[in-house]
Amino acid sequence: AHQQAIATATSPAVTRDKTRQIKVYANIGGISDTEEALSLGAEGVGLFRTEFLYLDRTTPPSEEEQLAVYQRIAQLLHNRPLIIRTLDVGGDKPIPYLNFPQESNPFLGWRGIRFCLDNPDILKTQLRAILKPSLGHQIKIMFPMITTVQEIQAAKAILAEVQAELRQAGVPFDQKMEVGIMVEIPSAVVLAEELAAEVDFFSIGTNDLTQYVMAADRTHPQVATLVDAMHPAVLRMIQQTVQAAHKAGIWVGLCGELAADPLAAPILLGLGLDEVSLNAQGIPGFKQAIAQLTMVEAEAIAASALQQDSADKIRTLIRQMLT
Ligand code: PEP
Ligand code: MG
Repeated sequence: AHQQAIATATSPAVTRDKTRQIKVYANIGGISDTEEALSLGAEGVGLFRTEFLYLDRTTPPSEEEQLAVYQRIAQLLHNRPLIIRTLDVGGDKPIPYLNFPQESNPFLGWRGIRFCLDNPDILKTQLRAILKPSLGHQIKIMFPMITTVQEIQAAKAILAEVQAELRQAGVPFDQKMEVGIMVEIPSAVVLAEELAAEVDFFSIGTNDLTQYVMAADRTHPQVATLVDAMHPAVLRMIQQTVQAAHKAGIWVGLCGELAADPLAAPILLGLGLDEVSLNAQGIPGFKQAIAQLTMVEAEAIAASALQQDSADKIRTLIRQMLT
């Protein structure tokens, strides 16, 4: 069992018929998560939630403080990808020193990229700290909560400004760094074709996508049964996003909690996702689930699942099809 655990940890997720490989990355919140992720078989980091650097303090972290963290994680990962998500505050993560207003609907309010575009200095500091250690590593930037085409264009314009300033100052950085967005708002799914023309990759955030598609607060216990990423309304949006990405020739991953549900593995594989990113503890289980499937089986499960009208029916169906 120990040998098998080591084999699982160090090998990629390949289907039983060896026809397809889906990359398995980890969601992390800082340096200490990174080593654990690597030991559990992460092939990279698909989501670094940088909010944690801004919590429990009285001022935003300086460029130097952030740079030290990004550099350390990039070094630990060697040449494996590191997707750094820019600050996603607001919603259920308000930060006292950033002077958030009292909001009646914080999840529909001033959060993520909306906050950052209104506070370009905070964003520019973070972007400099991400760019500076990028040479010789596979760092990628990801913007959260993108709702419109104009938002990603504005974020990219700020990134281009920072890059021009670094170039002028003779500071080296990875000129070809990939830029992506979280697809976690229904408008982004609807606009996926237009958004795909703006970026190098998508990562579907099923935690927020589910709450926004189902109109049910992800932290509200009374509506928790509605907040189910296995609902066909959510799965069909994932399918739509994957199809739009591939049509545009970009890769698409998924970094919400859905990836940690072993029953979801055949659907995510069958829908054609290129990557999943999940909490490190879920990585060996995900790889094991993939190893038990052929691509044809996964596609059949995904196709049948998408025709159901409830999450319960989908779970029952997957259990039946897996036995
Ligand atoms: C998501 O929304 O699915 C996601 C991965 O981001 P977070 O949980 O940090 O909002
Ligand atoms: Mg989110």
